[in-house]
Amino acid sequence: MLTAHARAPTSSRDPERSALVRDLAIDLGTANTLVYARGQGIIINEPTVIALNSRTQDVLAIGQDAWGMIGRTPGYIVAVRPLRGGAITDFEITQRLIRLLFKQAGISRLYRARVLICVPSAITHVEQRAVLEASRRAGAAQTYLIEQPMAAAIGASLPIHEPLGNMVIDVGGGTSEVAIISLGGVVALRAVRTGSFDMDAAIQSHVKREYGLAIGERTAEEIKLAIGSAFPIAEEYKAEVRGRDLSSGLAKTVVLTPDEIREAIADTVRQIVDATIQALTETPPELAQDLLLQGAHLVGGGALLRGMDLRIARETGIPVHLDDQPLECVVLGAGRCLESFDRLKDVFMGKPQRA
Ligand code: ADP
Ligand code: MG
Repeated sequence: MLTAHARAPTSSRDPERSALVRDLAIDLGTANTLVYARGQGIIINEPTVIALNSRTQDVLAIGQDAWGMIGRTPGYIVAVRPLRGGAITDFEITQRLIRLLFKQAGISRLYRARVLICVPSAITHVEQRAVLEASRRAGAAQTYLIEQPMAAAIGASLPIHEPLGNMVIDVGGGTSEVAIISLGGVVALRAVRTGSFDMDAAIQSHVKREYGLAIGERTAEEIKLAIGSAFPIAEEYKAEVRGRDLSSGLAKTVVLTPDEIREAIADTVRQIVDATIQALTETPPELAQDLLLQGAHLVGGGALLRGMDLRIARETGIPVHLDDQPLECVVLGAGRCLESFDRLKDVFMGKPQRA
């Protein structure tokens, strides 16, 4: 569970914060949850999955262990992705998730923890309050929120405080967000509840429709990782997949080509590209000019789909840079805010919640 820090903290310890203080940054993603501890780096990086006993409502596992249960559990155990669509739909579960993360990170009320939580920019006020309240109840002394694209921009070292257009495209599991940031604020935003999970679902239905074969969402994701693409690429391998024949009920193997998978996920890719184009049309002309030169910064696990950068660049006419740590960029940016708290706290959302 413990991972080495990826990017080193940017500044030394704040002398005002004593040893009995532990500050955390949390990226509550629809697919993955990452936690950064000030002075340490990333300490938790696990799937955002929670396994519940539906009879007793007991939490059986979270993270990697719960992920292993998806599609493999007896009827009364449910493995859920509580933030699947990017919204805090279940306050109870979100609160438990945060509490368990604090526990894993060794936080108790004793630590007077300052917690910075990365949330989708399109989050409603009600959801913001729900996250703040969940964190307070879990034991945080102060909780702050930061928009995920803002954190990503900081993680990518973009000059967010300058009067320049900084564009971030974040393709996550359940959501994708495109933001243009200037002078420390988001000036244009497009957020859609479409992301890399939808590609998995599209692959599942393609295999079902074309081959009469049932496959699980994890298998569909493996196919996407192995041969999925957003743009035709050279050197294309095929993928062999085993599933259950829907008419005979027996195991069957089929071979899938990159072309057909690209076709299967085309609609989802289209929606993400369209969101980018719409964000650009909402960008003030001066800033749009900057983007022609500076380009956009692509983050999130969905950014790793082959040819995604090239595809967006072709369709928008602006250069697209794939971050070198697309899955960690958001939490690393929030971590940087913890390390340089006073210099960066002006980019947080709203007012902090105090215990
Ligand atoms: P979130 O921020 O919503 O939690 P992430 O940024 O962690 O999402 O991205 C997770 C998504 O990225 C998953 O749906 C996963 O399948 C996808 N993903 C991860 N690596 C790759 C890859 N190499 N190619 C395509 N998709 C990928
Ligand atoms: Mg994310």
